[in-house]
Amino acid sequence: MALINEHFLKLSNQYLFADIAKKVKAYQTSHPQQRVISLGIGDVTQPLCPAVLEALHRTVDEMGEKSTFHGYGPENGYAFLREAILKNDYQPRGIHLDLSEIFISDGAKSDIGNFQELVRWDNSLGLTDPVYPVYVDSNAMIGRAGVCKDGVWSNVKYFPCTAENGFVPQLPGQRVDMIYLCYPNNPTGTVLTKSELRKWVNYALKNDTLILFDAAYEAYIQDAKIPHSIYEIRGAKKCAVEFRSYSKTAGFTGVRCGYTVVPHEVSVVTPDGKSRIPLHQLWTRRQATKFNGASYLSQRAAEAIYTEEGKKQIRSTIRYYMHNAHYLRSSLQALGFEVYGGENAPYLWVKTPKNQPSWKFFEELLYSTGVVCTPGVGFGPSGEGYFRLTAFGTYEDAEEALQRIKAWLQR
Ligand SMILES: *Cc1c(COP(=O)(O)O)cnc(C)c1O
Repeated sequence: MALINEHFLKLSNQYLFADIAKKVKAYQTSHPQQRVISLGIGDVTQPLCPAVLEALHRTVDEMGEKSTFHGYGPENGYAFLREAILKNDYQPRGIHLDLSEIFISDGAKSDIGNFQELVRWDNSLGLTDPVYPVYVDSNAMIGRAGVCKDGVWSNVKYFPCTAENGFVPQLPGQRVDMIYLCYPNNPTGTVLTKSELRKWVNYALKNDTLILFDAAYEAYIQDAKIPHSIYEIRGAKKCAVEFRSYSKTAGFTGVRCGYTVVPHEVSVVTPDGKSRIPLHQLWTRRQATKFNGASYLSQRAAEAIYTEEGKKQIRSTIRYYMHNAHYLRSSLQALGFEVYGGENAPYLWVKTPKNQPSWKFFEELLYSTGVVCTPGVGFGPSGEGYFRLTAFGTYEDAEEALQRIKAWLQR
């Protein structure tokens, strides 16, 4: 008889997006004539750029020739891609990392979910609220988050991010062992300035806290003063791990490639408190056992993003999404909505009118306009009274959605 890992039973069965899909389906059944427009999608919609396609075609041909075929690659990724990362993503920002500190992955979600297994289950955990659900659920699965009651986990220290504090989380009053930060933020679309991020790094250095920094949306930053990497802050190499992904940067959600930076200096303490072990050593060991590398094809595809052509092409797609974001932001503001984010991220975080609960507004919007949003409370307790819109759809859909919302409000 195999006994269950009982922590899995503490997870809520209803995944937010499955819940939304069910409600949209019910609406569509009763309103077959109405075309539903989703402003809730968290996936990119624009195709891969020509430079990436060319690299993929070339690589497929290589795989078909005995002399250029590639089997298992290095677990931590090919040097050609890691070199391109250092040269393009870090050196221009004055960040000097070693090639060995870059670990190529099959996307950020798996690394984010897996990394927490390097530290004991009973470390204390801090999260900004609202939050990307992967941070919570992956920690819940090994028992670190405690139990969930009314959407609140008993062993999680929440750092609320709301309009009241300008979406800048307040530093915890006590010590916390590990903290997740995501900037630009999903779901709120807000960013941290360098001085705000510096406070978190200084807190981590002072309290011996591990920061897990998710930079999946760094390519969307428009304001030159906003940091793209946590390593732009002095001392961060001693306390932070950084996760990056080509999913939102270059439309790789279906290709699968990303990377994680684990500096040699970040370390954790042995249970007797007497010595420190580099996380780099543990992650190397963990990956060697449980991961066999991202495919040669996806790594060649990622390399193509760093060519002059590739850079230009992915910038143009990001510009398209950000144009949607600016359009949604200014149009909603003109209609009287309180809108946050959407300036350095493809997400808008909007206050519900008259402070309605998120799900109530979701249903009203759906049944009055056929437009789908994501209820803010689905991302954590501080998301109540907000909804999230994404800029990943088409401009035409954004325009039509806005026209419908305008007509609804004037009714
Ligand atoms: C989309 C996203 C990722 C990236 O996921 P992949 O597995 O690389 O596709 C990571 N973090 C956040 C917050 C995201 O929204």
